[in-house]
Amino acid sequence: MFSMIQFQSAGLVIVLFIMCMHFARRTKWLVTERTFEVFLFIVLAGLLLDISSIFAIAYRTKIPVIVTNLISKFYLISLQVTTLMTLVYLFADLFWYEERIRKLFRPFLIFLIVIFCSYLFLPIYYFFDFENRVVYSYGPAVFMTYACCLSFLTLSFGILIFCWDKISLSRKLPVVVIISSFIISAVIQFFNNELLLVGFAMSMAVMVIYLYMENPYLRMDRELGTNNEHAWNLYVKQMFARKKDFNMVAIYINDLESIIDIFGNKNKIDLLLSITNFFRSIDDSISFRMGTNNFIVVSSTLKNKDLLEKITRRFAEPFSVADASIKLSVSYCTYPDSKLFSDVQELISIKNYIHLKMKRNANETFITVNEDLIKSQREMVNIKKRLQWALENDGFDVFYQPIYSFEKGRIVSAEALTRLKDEEGKFINPEVFIQIAEENGMILEIGMKVFDKVCRFIKDFHPEDLGIEYIEVNLSVVQCMQETLAGDLMAIMDKYKINPGFINFEITETSMINSKDVLLNNMSELIENSANFYLDDYGSGYSNLSYIIGLPLHAVKLDKSIVWASFTSEKGSITLEFVVRMIKKLNMKIVAEGIENKEQFNKMKELGVDLVQGYYFSRPVDSKDFVKFMFEYKDDND
Ligand code: C2E
Ligand code: MG
Ligand code: MG
Repeated sequence: MFSMIQFQSAGLVIVLFIMCMHFARRTKWLVTERTFEVFLFIVLAGLLLDISSIFAIAYRTKIPVIVTNLISKFYLISLQVTTLMTLVYLFADLFWYEERIRKLFRPFLIFLIVIFCSYLFLPIYYFFDFENRVVYSYGPAVFMTYACCLSFLTLSFGILIFCWDKISLSRKLPVVVIISSFIISAVIQFFNNELLLVGFAMSMAVMVIYLYMENPYLRMDRELGTNNEHAWNLYVKQMFARKKDFNMVAIYINDLESIIDIFGNKNKIDLLLSITNFFRSIDDSISFRMGTNNFIVVSSTLKNKDLLEKITRRFAEPFSVADASIKLSVSYCTYPDSKLFSDVQELISIKNYIHLKMKRNANETFITVNEDLIKSQREMVNIKKRLQWALENDGFDVFYQPIYSFEKGRIVSAEALTRLKDEEGKFINPEVFIQIAEENGMILEIGMKVFDKVCRFIKDFHPEDLGIEYIEVNLSVVQCMQETLAGDLMAIMDKYKINPGFINFEITETSMINSKDVLLNNMSELIENSANFYLDDYGSGYSNLSYIIGLPLHAVKLDKSIVWASFTSEKGSITLEFVVRMIKKLNMKIVAEGIENKEQFNKMKELGVDLVQGYYFSRPVDSKDFVKFMFEYKDDND
């Protein structure tokens, strides 16, 4: 008898084993997990009914016909339900998260109930060959089961192909494997009635789903056994899809690194475990570990204020590490209301942005994700899109602002400044879009496009004929970190036959902090080809004198803030005086930015500044207006 139920028995063992594994580590809050549990029980019921039906057929002479028929028909129905459930589960991405598809399912359910009821009237026949150990059922009820199952599977294939882009990558492989194995086993069983493979194929489907999609270890932090970032992603996705509100608090432990240094890794884990245990102890909340030192606690029932209060109160108290008692340095970010976000993607990108911000600046101790922050993030997303558009559609403009030399008594150069307009045609602040482009690496491509435009301008308009001796081009920190920078810039100058001596590159102090060696290599290659380097924005940030000393700079450009400060306070005036004297002593030229009026112009002249740039002469203007300006300027000065 056993040889007739060997496939089903093996399937039963697999399903029971997976059930034990699953229930030991369920999250209790994932809808797809609950769907999987229903699926597990249906497959289990199907296998038990399969085995029972074989016994019922084998001993049909000893039990009432109605019992054999009922068991066999329930088994056939269970086959259909399993196939259908597989379909629902496999397409859970579409099913749970798309209202339209859920609506479509309702009339389909009525159709199914009609089919199931029809089993009451459909005849079923049995074949039993005890000698050859062959047992199976046949007839219209069986035929209808095969027809329906195959239709469902074909439908699955249809959905799979039709919605290929909407199904998450992690589901695609199991979906294909499961549907194919169901079809193959059903076809084999249909033509070889004695090979009862379908039940086994179902248990294999359970296994594939468990391993690929319901594997609790995918959602678990290995070190602490708590939910990980993937689990958080599933949670928020589900809450948004089901239109449920929640709030959350992110906790960043700033001094974890130093705790590892002082107390070692083992004590770090003990500390993190006591932190996760504390999070677990907060009723009506779920906690996630999002990174080495970052946790998020979410709740859909607790008020954000109360949740935050509970957490901050605990972190105000010390934690014990080894035998010591330590008060941790912690930063918080609170997300009071999930309704503020337009969709889950927005929440995820804001969370990532804040994560980066906290990583870069541990002094940031408290952030509230309110409407203003979300608004500025939306603007940032729009600017990113606009930058992408500008890269693809030649959307950047280059404006030029003249620079005046006291020595020559005329305009001798111009700074090239990138311009980008938004969809309504308004200029986006370059400081804003340049920073965004630096953060996502787009600045590399933008930098090259802008430099290409500058070189083309020099080639087409011959600014040297108008008294321009060189053009200043800004280089971003990110560009300066590229080993290929000098070569790439040389290639563009070669293309337009521009003498590198006609270009002054402006770099900032931050370029040096990041990659001094690479920067030095790039600088020396370009200087060898007769280009010059200016240090831009001097006095705006941390002005570290060693940078001025250690680099082959031709000139230093004073930031407008330091220039303006010299007119508003005595201290500012003294500072500027000393800075000018120091740079002169170092044998470098000085350019002052932000000169807006005659008074500022005169003072710079008095101080001994070499060159000035500012609205006093002209705002930055486009290439045509700049050429026009220079023509008129030349005529006035001739
Ligand atoms: P920056 O290189 O220090 O450029 C000088 C900035 O000061 C320009 O701002 C210019 O318009 C402004 N400015 C000049 N004179 C005056 C004045 O008299 N009064 C006032 N209020 N402002 C004046 P802009 O064009 O907005 O550029 C801002 C920054 O964006 C630049 O500062 C530079 O760091 C960056 N940037 C602009 N274009 C590029 C580029 O092509 N590449 C890179 N990497 N950065 C660029
Ligand atoms: Mg500049
Ligand atoms: Mg500047």
